[in-house]
Amino acid sequence: MTTRTTFLGLGAMGSALAAAALDTGRPSVVWNRTPDKARALGERGATVTETVEEAITGDGVVVVCLLDHQSVHAVVDPVAARLAGRTVINLTTTTPNQARGLATWAAEHGITYLDGAIMAVPRMIGHPDAAIFYSGPEAAFGENRDLLDLWGRSDYFGTDPGFASLRDMAMLVGMYTMFAGFLHGAAMVGAEGVSATDFARRQGPFLASMTGQLADLATAVDAKEHAGAGQQSLEFTEAALDLLVTASLDQGVSIEVLRPVHDIVHRQVAAGYGRQGTARIVEALRSTR
Ligand code: NDP
Repeated sequence: MTTRTTFLGLGAMGSALAAAALDTGRPSVVWNRTPDKARALGERGATVTETVEEAITGDGVVVVCLLDHQSVHAVVDPVAARLAGRTVINLTTTTPNQARGLATWAAEHGITYLDGAIMAVPRMIGHPDAAIFYSGPEAAFGENRDLLDLWGRSDYFGTDPGFASLRDMAMLVGMYTMFAGFLHGAAMVGAEGVSATDFARRQGPFLASMTGQLADLATAVDAKEHAGAGQQSLEFTEAALDLLVTASLDQGVSIEVLRPVHDIVHRQVAAGYGRQGTARIVEALRSTR
């Protein structure tokens, strides 16, 4: 018999997760601080509860998808004792240490805690291009695969509860800096009346083709080998970035996004590494722990 699944948090993402479960006929109980957001799921067959206590009564896993770490504590702390013996899958975005803190909190209350990090937007949930990263007890991951796989690809990164979040955060650094770079470019051409929409039509495919270089960069980073032939040199990159800085300023565009990259490369060249590959940037960024 399929046990019920409880969903705490019905924002855009929590609603998408619950809807995917309901679509497969999975008995689901839903709760949200603002009750209105539960109505549509109730019409699709979910049991809507007014309180968290009611929502967690009974058996089955509890899926938490709230705004942030603080809101998770605000919702689950008061019912910690009643969650003893249950499995909580937290898909709220947190830092790795926040995830570890929640895992410690869960262990203190006899709760099995699986942390998840969603690599998708709500409309992708339930489709093959969605992925969710997990870390925590392997048994909790394995036992709940039928539920987890409803949402997209399920990737497990080990027992350290912070690892899913670490992978998530590392991926998002690439995304946000890419978006900021795109917006910088849009501001440059925008100064001449070119629409961002026009710019995006060309920028999108160009960036996609550039991702082909990630594997080569990664090979150099993993081998700590930056002298190899075929890599774009730091000197070359510095000259390119100088041009981008000048052109941006000429357009009246702030170089706040570009300057940190420029400055790192400049420091590496000044330190005598100009002939080495641009992937050497990582040496300036590596953890010194
Ligand atoms: P929303 O802003 O749509 O929803 C936030 C949810 O958190 C709502 O249910 C809200 O309740 C609840 N909430 C906030 N503060 C509290 C509180 N103090 N007590 C109780 N409930 C609270 O966010 P999303 O659904 O989009 O995101 C949820 C999580 O999923 C976030 O951690 C986000 O980073 C992550 N995520 C979202 C993605 C997306 O594209 N949307 C992508 C990847 C991850 P109320 O309705 O009452 O305000």
